[in-house]
Amino acid sequence: MKLNGWLPALLFATIILIMGYIYFSKKQTAAKKKTLLSLMGAPGTGKGTLAAKSIKNPKISSLSTGNLLRKEIDLKTDLGKEAEQYMSQGKLVPDELIISMVDKWLTNNLTSVEILLLDGFPRTARQADMFLNLLRNKYKNASLRVVELVLSDEAIIERLSDRLICEKCQAPYSRKLFKADDKWICEICGGQLKQRSDDKEDVIRNRLKVYDENLKPLIDIYKKGGITINRIDIEGKTPEQVFEQFKDVLKVKDKPEKKS
Ligand code: AMP
Repeated sequence: MKLNGWLPALLFATIILIMGYIYFSKKQTAAKKKTLLSLMGAPGTGKGTLAAKSIKNPKISSLSTGNLLRKEIDLKTDLGKEAEQYMSQGKLVPDELIISMVDKWLTNNLTSVEILLLDGFPRTARQADMFLNLLRNKYKNASLRVVELVLSDEAIIERLSDRLICEKCQAPYSRKLFKADDKWICEICGGQLKQRSDDKEDVIRNRLKVYDENLKPLIDIYKKGGITINRIDIEGKTPEQVFEQFKDVLKVKDKPEKKS
Protein backbone atom coordinates (compact mmCIF):
# COMPACT_ATOMS: atom_id res chain seq x y z
CA MET A 1 0.00 0.00 0.00
CA LYS A 2 1.26 3.47 -0.89
CA LEU A 3 0.97 5.26 2.44
CA ASN A 4 3.00 8.26 1.28
CA GLY A 5 0.19 9.49 -0.99
CA TRP A 6 -2.55 8.90 1.59
CA LEU A 7 -0.92 10.55 4.59
CA PRO A 8 -1.21 14.21 3.48
CA ALA A 9 -4.84 13.66 2.42
CA LEU A 10 -5.63 12.03 5.77
CA LEU A 11 -3.94 14.85 7.65
CA PHE A 12 -5.84 17.44 5.60
CA ALA A 13 -9.19 15.71 6.25
CA THR A 14 -8.45 15.52 10.00
CA ILE A 15 -7.63 19.24 10.16
CA ILE A 16 -10.83 20.11 8.27
CA LEU A 17 -12.86 17.92 10.67
CA ILE A 18 -11.30 19.53 13.76
CA MET A 19 -11.84 23.04 12.38
CA GLY A 20 -15.45 22.18 11.53
CA TYR A 21 -16.00 20.82 15.02
CA ILE A 22 -14.56 23.99 16.64
CA TYR A 23 -16.63 26.23 14.34
CA PHE A 24 -19.92 24.43 15.01
CA SER A 25 -19.42 24.08 18.77
CA LYS A 26 -18.66 27.83 18.94
CA LYS A 27 -21.82 28.54 16.96
CA GLN A 28 -23.80 26.27 19.27
CA THR A 29 -22.52 28.06 22.41
CA ALA A 30 -23.42 31.40 20.84
CA ALA A 31 -26.97 30.29 20.02
CA LYS A 32 -27.55 28.39 23.30
CA LYS A 33 -29.88 29.77 25.96
CA LYS A 34 -27.99 31.99 28.38
CA THR A 35 -28.91 32.41 32.02
CA LEU A 36 -28.18 35.83 33.46
CA LEU A 37 -28.42 35.70 37.23
CA SER A 38 -28.61 39.00 39.05
CA LEU A 39 -27.02 38.84 42.51
CA MET A 40 -28.85 41.38 44.63
CA GLY A 41 -27.80 42.32 48.13
CA ALA A 42 -26.68 45.36 50.08
CA PRO A 43 -22.98 46.21 49.88
CA GLY A 44 -21.00 43.81 52.05
CA THR A 45 -23.33 40.82 51.70
CA GLY A 46 -20.61 38.88 49.90
CA LYS A 47 -21.81 39.07 46.28
CA GLY A 48 -18.19 39.34 45.04
CA THR A 49 -17.03 36.42 47.21
CA LEU A 50 -19.89 34.27 45.98
CA ALA A 51 -19.18 35.20 42.35
CA ALA A 52 -15.46 34.41 42.83
CA LYS A 53 -16.32 30.93 44.19
CA SER A 54 -18.88 30.30 41.44
CA ILE A 55 -16.62 31.07 38.48
CA LYS A 56 -14.41 28.11 39.35
CA ASN A 57 -17.15 26.23 37.48
CA PRO A 58 -16.28 26.69 33.77
CA LYS A 59 -19.97 27.13 32.88
CA ILE A 60 -20.21 30.25 35.05
CA SER A 61 -18.79 33.74 34.43
CA SER A 62 -19.37 36.95 36.33
CA LEU A 63 -19.73 40.62 35.62
CA SER A 64 -19.43 43.21 38.40
CA THR A 65 -20.49 46.72 37.41
CA GLY A 66 -18.53 48.05 40.42
CA ASN A 67 -15.33 46.38 39.15
CA LEU A 68 -15.93 47.63 35.59
CA LEU A 69 -16.35 51.16 36.94
CA ARG A 70 -13.20 50.93 39.10
CA LYS A 71 -11.27 49.81 35.99
CA GLU A 72 -12.55 52.88 34.10
CA ILE A 73 -11.41 55.05 37.03
CA ASP A 74 -7.94 53.47 37.02
CA LEU A 75 -7.69 54.02 33.25
CA LYS A 76 -8.81 57.65 33.79
CA THR A 77 -11.42 57.40 31.00
CA ASP A 78 -14.23 59.98 30.70
CA LEU A 79 -16.68 57.40 32.08
CA GLY A 80 -14.31 56.71 34.99
CA LYS A 81 -13.97 60.42 35.80
CA GLU A 82 -17.74 60.89 35.80
CA ALA A 83 -18.43 57.70 37.80
CA GLU A 84 -15.86 58.59 40.47
CA GLN A 85 -17.80 61.69 41.51
CA TYR A 86 -20.78 59.51 42.46
CA MET A 87 -18.88 56.53 43.83
CA SER A 88 -16.73 58.52 46.25
CA GLN A 89 -19.91 59.72 47.96
CA GLY A 90 -21.61 56.33 48.01
CA LYS A 91 -24.14 57.49 45.39
CA LEU A 92 -25.27 55.43 42.42
CA VAL A 93 -23.81 56.11 38.97
CA PRO A 94 -26.55 57.29 36.52
CA ASP A 95 -28.61 54.48 35.00
CA GLU A 96 -27.83 55.37 31.35
CA LEU A 97 -24.07 55.08 31.94
CA ILE A 98 -24.49 51.71 33.62
CA ILE A 99 -26.82 50.30 30.97
CA SER A 100 -24.60 51.34 28.06
CA MET A 101 -21.53 49.91 29.84
CA VAL A 102 -23.32 46.57 30.43
CA ASP A 103 -24.71 46.53 26.87
CA LYS A 104 -21.19 47.03 25.48
CA TRP A 105 -19.85 44.21 27.69
CA LEU A 106 -22.63 41.82 26.60
CA THR A 107 -22.12 42.64 22.91
CA ASN A 108 -18.45 41.69 23.26
CA ASN A 109 -18.76 38.71 25.61
CA LEU A 110 -22.21 37.10 25.67
CA THR A 111 -21.44 34.53 22.95
CA SER A 112 -18.91 32.78 25.20
CA VAL A 113 -21.20 32.81 28.26
CA GLU A 114 -23.46 30.03 29.56
CA ILE A 115 -24.40 31.32 33.01
CA LEU A 116 -23.51 34.91 33.86
CA LEU A 117 -23.64 36.26 37.41
CA LEU A 118 -24.44 39.95 37.46
CA ASP A 119 -22.83 41.23 40.65
CA GLY A 120 -24.69 44.34 41.81
CA PHE A 121 -26.68 44.92 38.64
CA PRO A 122 -29.51 45.92 38.03
CA ARG A 123 -29.52 48.11 41.14
CA THR A 124 -32.47 50.41 40.45
CA ALA A 125 -35.98 49.79 39.12
CA ARG A 126 -35.09 51.87 36.05
CA GLN A 127 -31.98 49.79 35.35
CA ALA A 128 -34.05 46.60 35.69
CA ASP A 129 -36.73 47.96 33.38
CA MET A 130 -34.21 49.11 30.75
CA PHE A 131 -32.30 45.85 31.07
CA LEU A 132 -35.41 43.66 30.64
CA ASN A 133 -36.22 45.66 27.50
CA LEU A 134 -32.69 45.14 26.22
CA LEU A 135 -33.02 41.38 26.77
CA ARG A 136 -36.41 41.28 25.03
CA ASN A 137 -35.18 43.24 22.00
CA LYS A 138 -31.48 42.50 21.59
CA TYR A 139 -30.40 39.46 23.64
CA LYS A 140 -33.36 37.20 22.97
CA ASN A 141 -31.56 33.98 23.93
CA ALA A 142 -30.87 35.29 27.46
CA SER A 143 -33.21 35.03 30.43
CA LEU A 144 -32.95 36.74 33.82
CA ARG A 145 -33.07 35.13 37.27
CA VAL A 146 -32.62 36.94 40.58
CA VAL A 147 -31.04 35.92 43.90
CA GLU A 148 -30.96 38.24 46.92
CA LEU A 149 -28.45 37.87 49.77
CA VAL A 150 -29.96 39.15 53.03
CA LEU A 151 -27.95 40.43 56.05
CA SER A 152 -28.62 42.95 58.85
CA ASP A 153 -27.15 46.49 58.60
CA GLU A 154 -25.04 46.06 61.79
CA ALA A 155 -23.37 42.93 60.41
CA ILE A 156 -22.76 44.71 57.08
CA ILE A 157 -21.03 47.71 58.71
CA GLU A 158 -18.81 45.40 60.76
CA ARG A 159 -17.87 43.38 57.64
CA LEU A 160 -17.15 46.34 55.36
CA SER A 161 -15.09 48.28 57.90
CA ASP A 162 -12.90 45.16 58.11
CA ARG A 163 -12.67 44.55 54.34
CA LEU A 164 -9.54 44.91 52.21
CA ILE A 165 -9.57 44.64 48.41
CA CYS A 166 -6.76 43.69 46.03
CA GLU A 167 -5.95 46.70 43.82
CA LYS A 168 -5.17 44.39 40.89
CA CYS A 169 -7.72 41.52 40.88
CA GLN A 170 -10.31 42.95 43.34
CA ALA A 171 -10.30 39.82 45.54
CA PRO A 172 -11.72 40.64 48.99
CA TYR A 173 -9.87 39.90 52.29
CA SER A 174 -10.54 40.41 55.99
CA ARG A 175 -8.09 42.58 57.95
CA LYS A 176 -8.46 40.14 60.85
CA LEU A 177 -6.48 37.57 58.85
CA PHE A 178 -3.31 39.69 59.04
CA LYS A 179 -0.94 40.10 61.99
CA ALA A 180 0.39 43.58 62.85
CA ASP A 181 3.66 43.20 60.89
CA ASP A 182 2.17 41.23 57.93
CA LYS A 183 2.30 42.86 54.49
CA TRP A 184 -1.11 43.37 52.88
CA ILE A 185 -0.42 41.36 49.71
CA CYS A 186 -2.96 39.40 47.62
CA GLU A 187 -2.21 35.68 47.73
CA ILE A 188 -3.89 35.15 44.33
CA CYS A 189 -2.04 37.72 42.19
CA GLY A 190 0.52 39.42 44.49
CA GLY A 191 -1.27 42.80 44.20
CA GLN A 192 -1.39 45.37 47.01
CA LEU A 193 -4.42 45.17 49.32
CA LYS A 194 -6.11 48.38 50.44
CA GLN A 195 -9.32 49.64 52.00
CA ARG A 196 -11.78 50.87 49.38
CA SER A 197 -12.41 54.60 49.71
CA ASP A 198 -16.17 53.89 49.93
CA ASP A 199 -15.74 51.32 52.74
CA LYS A 200 -15.61 54.05 55.42
CA GLU A 201 -18.48 54.05 57.93
CA ASP A 202 -20.22 57.28 56.83
CA VAL A 203 -20.05 56.27 53.14
CA ILE A 204 -21.20 52.71 54.02
CA ARG A 205 -24.27 54.12 55.82
CA ASN A 206 -25.09 56.17 52.74
CA ARG A 207 -24.68 53.14 50.46
CA LEU A 208 -27.04 51.13 52.71
CA LYS A 209 -29.60 53.95 52.61
CA VAL A 210 -29.37 54.06 48.81
CA TYR A 211 -29.80 50.26 48.64
CA ASP A 212 -32.90 50.33 50.88
CA GLU A 213 -34.49 53.16 48.90
CA ASN A 214 -34.10 51.26 45.65
CA LEU A 215 -35.11 47.83 46.92
CA LYS A 216 -38.91 48.09 46.92
CA PRO A 217 -39.27 49.66 43.43
CA LEU A 218 -36.81 47.06 42.10
CA ILE A 219 -38.83 44.20 43.61
CA ASP A 220 -42.00 45.72 42.09
CA ILE A 221 -40.45 45.70 38.60
CA TYR A 222 -39.54 42.02 38.97
CA LYS A 223 -43.05 41.20 40.22
CA LYS A 224 -44.50 42.99 37.20
CA GLY A 225 -42.18 41.06 34.88
CA GLY A 226 -43.10 37.71 36.54
CA ILE A 227 -39.54 37.22 37.84
CA THR A 228 -39.19 35.46 41.22
CA ILE A 229 -36.54 36.53 43.71
CA ASN A 230 -34.79 33.65 45.50
CA ARG A 231 -33.67 34.88 48.93
CA ILE A 232 -30.69 33.50 50.88
CA ASP A 233 -30.40 34.60 54.52
CA ILE A 234 -26.65 34.77 55.16
CA GLU A 235 -26.65 35.89 58.82
CA GLY A 236 -24.11 33.79 60.75
CA LYS A 237 -23.21 31.67 57.71
CA THR A 238 -19.70 31.04 56.36
CA PRO A 239 -18.99 31.85 52.68
CA GLU A 240 -18.87 28.06 52.05
CA GLN A 241 -22.36 27.56 53.56
CA VAL A 242 -23.73 30.43 51.47
CA PHE A 243 -22.10 28.93 48.38
CA GLU A 244 -23.70 25.51 49.01
CA GLN A 245 -27.12 27.12 49.37
CA PHE A 246 -26.53 29.19 46.23
CA LYS A 247 -25.64 26.05 44.24
CA ASP A 248 -29.00 24.56 45.30
CA VAL A 249 -30.81 27.68 44.10
CA LEU A 250 -28.98 27.50 40.76
CA LYS A 251 -30.18 23.94 40.26
CA VAL A 252 -33.82 24.25 41.31
CA LYS A 253 -36.61 25.96 39.48
CA ASP A 254 -37.78 29.24 41.00
CA LYS A 255 -39.65 28.79 44.30
CA PRO A 256 -42.59 31.01 45.15
CA GLU A 257 -41.41 34.16 46.94
CA LYS A 258 -41.90 34.24 50.75
CA LYS A 259 -44.37 36.86 51.92
CA SER A 260 -42.64 39.44 54.16
P1 AMP B 1 -19.85 47.73 44.32
O1 AMP B 1 -18.46 47.38 43.92
O2 AMP B 1 -20.88 46.84 43.69
O3 AMP B 1 -20.02 47.85 45.81
O4 AMP B 1 -20.14 49.20 43.73
C1 AMP B 1 -19.37 50.30 44.13
C2 AMP B 1 -20.03 51.58 43.64
O5 AMP B 1 -20.08 51.57 42.20
C3 AMP B 1 -21.46 51.77 44.09
O6 AMP B 1 -21.55 52.37 45.38
C4 AMP B 1 -21.98 52.73 42.99
O7 AMP B 1 -21.51 54.04 43.20
C5 AMP B 1 -21.29 52.18 41.74
N1 AMP B 1 -22.09 51.14 41.07
C6 AMP B 1 -21.78 49.83 40.91
N2 AMP B 1 -22.75 49.18 40.26
C7 AMP B 1 -23.72 50.08 40.02
C8 AMP B 1 -25.00 50.04 39.39
N3 AMP B 1 -25.50 48.89 38.89
N4 AMP B 1 -25.72 51.18 39.32
C9 AMP B 1 -25.25 52.35 39.79
N5 AMP B 1 -24.06 52.48 40.41
C10 AMP B 1 -23.30 51.36 40.52
